[in-house]
Amino acid sequence: MSKTINKNPCIICVAITGSVPTKENNPNIPISVNEQIESTQEAFEAGASIVHCHVRNDDGSVSSDPIKFKKLKDGITKFCPGMIIQFSTGGRSGSGRERGYMLPHCPDMASLTVGSNNFPNRVYENSPELIDWLSSEMIRYKIVPEIEAFDLSHIFQASQLFKYNKLKGKPYIQFVMGVKNAMPVDRQVFEFYIETVKRLMPSANWCAAGTGKYQKIINEWSIELGGHTRTGMEDNIRISKHQLASSNAELVFLTKEICSKYERPVANWKEARQILDIPLRT
Ligand SMILES: [Zn+2]
Repeated sequence: MSKTINKNPCIICVAITGSVPTKENNPNIPISVNEQIESTQEAFEAGASIVHCHVRNDDGSVSSDPIKFKKLKDGITKFCPGMIIQFSTGGRSGSGRERGYMLPHCPDMASLTVGSNNFPNRVYENSPELIDWLSSEMIRYKIVPEIEAFDLSHIFQASQLFKYNKLKGKPYIQFVMGVKNAMPVDRQVFEFYIETVKRLMPSANWCAAGTGKYQKIINEWSIELGGHTRTGMEDNIRISKHQLASSNAELVFLTKEICSKYERPVANWKEARQILDIPLRT
């Protein structure tokens, strides 16, 4: 693939917390809802227009408590007006349908993995029955899905779900690379993912996320090739081998620098909503 001269605005998503990193790994990771709101506001002011949300118990352990999700959404709506709020339905914070019990709180978006794969220490299980249920809940509450493609088959599966109206909204596909035992960071595969999305879902937008030290590489590839990108402490807690990230905002600033390098403007929340066709909820 030749270098794309594509100066379209780049949407930066910030994944503020996730389910894995702890205060022991990096004391700056936001855990309580108040810390998460504060961290999101800094990242929003730095240029992120989507926030990807998980919630935790106060001791840092994983949670899927819908009340916490609601408090987080209310705080972000108040302090980051216009920002696109995305809840995670990922499998590390709960099991089975528990992963979608917060969807009635109507975030703008929710992540959705449409197939199974391996994670570092276990199977990331997404059964067809669970995927159908999460999809139907997203349609019910008018939530736009962000498809997490951990594997090529997930892109094909997503296109089928949109084709048969089991998913609605403009497709937004995120390539996830660098998770141990899943798809590694591989440029040829990355480019083939883009080609495949364009072939199967011509109206789709795409973005990408890399984990750990690969975050920066994936940010660079997505920005270079005209896509959107994700940063944040869920995926990576360091700014270099020897230095921990001081905040989610710092990672957003580093991503913005890559946008400048490739002459991509950073999408503000209005542009991001327009690109993804997500109107403000009234
Ligand atoms: Zn997540």
